[in-house]
Amino acid sequence: MAGENPITIMGAGLSGLAAATILARAGREVHVHDVRADSGARFDGDFQALENWSYPFDFFDQLKEWGFDTSEFKASEFSLVDLIHPDDEISQAKTDGVAYRIVERGTSSHTIDQGFKRMALKAGAQLHYNSKIDIGDADVVACGPKNTSAVAYGEIFHTKHENIIAFQLNDKLAPGAYSYLIVIDGVGLICTCLWRKQKKSERFLNETIAWYQHHYPNIDMEPVKRVGGKGDFTINKHYKIDGKYYVGESGGLQDFMWGFGMRMAIWSGVLAAKDILGQGNYEKDVRKQLLPYVRTSVTNRWLMNRVGNRTFKRMCRQWMKDQKKSGEGLRWISKLFRPTILKTTLFYFIQPFMLEKDKTAMSRGVRRMPFRKAKPRDMWEPSEDAMSVKKRWDDHRKKGGHVSFQEDNSS
Ligand SMILES: Cc1cc2nc3c(=O)[nH]c(=O)nc-3n(C[C@H](O)[C@H](O)[C@H](O)COP(=O)(O)OP(=O)(O)OC[C@H]3O[C@@H](n4cnc5c(N)ncnc54)[C@H](O)[C@@H]3O)c2cc1C
Repeated sequence: MAGENPITIMGAGLSGLAAATILARAGREVHVHDVRADSGARFDGDFQALENWSYPFDFFDQLKEWGFDTSEFKASEFSLVDLIHPDDEISQAKTDGVAYRIVERGTSSHTIDQGFKRMALKAGAQLHYNSKIDIGDADVVACGPKNTSAVAYGEIFHTKHENIIAFQLNDKLAPGAYSYLIVIDGVGLICTCLWRKQKKSERFLNETIAWYQHHYPNIDMEPVKRVGGKGDFTINKHYKIDGKYYVGESGGLQDFMWGFGMRMAIWSGVLAAKDILGQGNYEKDVRKQLLPYVRTSVTNRWLMNRVGNRTFKRMCRQWMKDQKKSGEGLRWISKLFRPTILKTTLFYFIQPFMLEKDKTAMSRGVRRMPFRKAKPRDMWEPSEDAMSVKKRWDDHRKKGGHVSFQEDNSS
């Protein structure tokens, strides 16, 4: 227990701010230091999805239980998602509940980052931006990613198209992963995720945008900026070491299969704060509440790394078949994310092959999923449509179009 001393948190992102809010509300003196100029500055207005299927309860109910005010940030609910198969067939996954809530990341006032910042400030936490501290001085380490296991790269645009979300499994456009299209209230994002390291990764984004333009011809696009970032996927031997709590992505607490991390970031921040307040045991609680899901996602990722479009197609078919049978579009995906005896057993067999020791964090026993090498099939010539997308972006860039992706290196 950190006693009644002031608590120092390194990182004013989702996990750090969640911990700060709970602690400050309980009357503790809390200082949060962030190397960047503001919460959310790691992201630059991109949309992210709070998935709502991995646990058998609604994430917003959980947030409310912890005392967070979900009206502090804008969240757009979707119960219908276009599922794009690798052979370009488009089906729709539907649920009676909420499948996703799309939130914006960044420094605008309606982003989730700024919502959590306001809650931390209201609770009495003291936030220090552009502030670099030594990790030895931190009680809670909440710095987000350190290394790179995967990247995501997207273009934000203005559009008149109605709100929509589409999720595409396609190993060519998004090696080992997926791409997505999101439109919320006149702002769109087309993003591709690369789970294999590529040269000239921009060509994947251009080709992905060209794909969406062709298959969603009603979407007009006026480019604004390009955004993206890296994901760090690790399994740690311990989550609390020498009195320090490693939360969110700093603790490797996110989904290895598709990179969902916000839910576990906030959750782990809450668990760390509760332990400090003497209301829990962080190491035990992470192992019980979060780690089974992380381990399952490692197994899922291992399976994903072994397959290509043929299996992606089979997955889409299974998903739709299950929806037809059960009448519920989230049942299949929920099962995929939930721990089973088989997946947990598989985890123990595959993890020595999946994860590499992090020599710089050996004392914490950190093992990282390396950024995998490209495959020969990742080499292809861009289409003419993709070249036009590139030209449109290059023209926009010359007029001031901003790329925030390369700046994601301060951690
Ligand atoms: C492009 C992209 C798309 C994503 N999409 C999704 C999605 O759709 N759904 C989802 O659930 N997850 C998504 N994720 C993952 C999600 O963003 C992370 O899992 C989540 O933000 C982790 O929260 P965190 O608190 O650990 O880190 P963050 O919220 O990133 O906060 C870390 C903070 O620490 C600060 N910091 C860094 N280094 C230091 C230092 N040395 N000292 C002090 N402060 C420091 C940073 O400036 C930052 O403010 C995505 C990630 C990326 C990159």
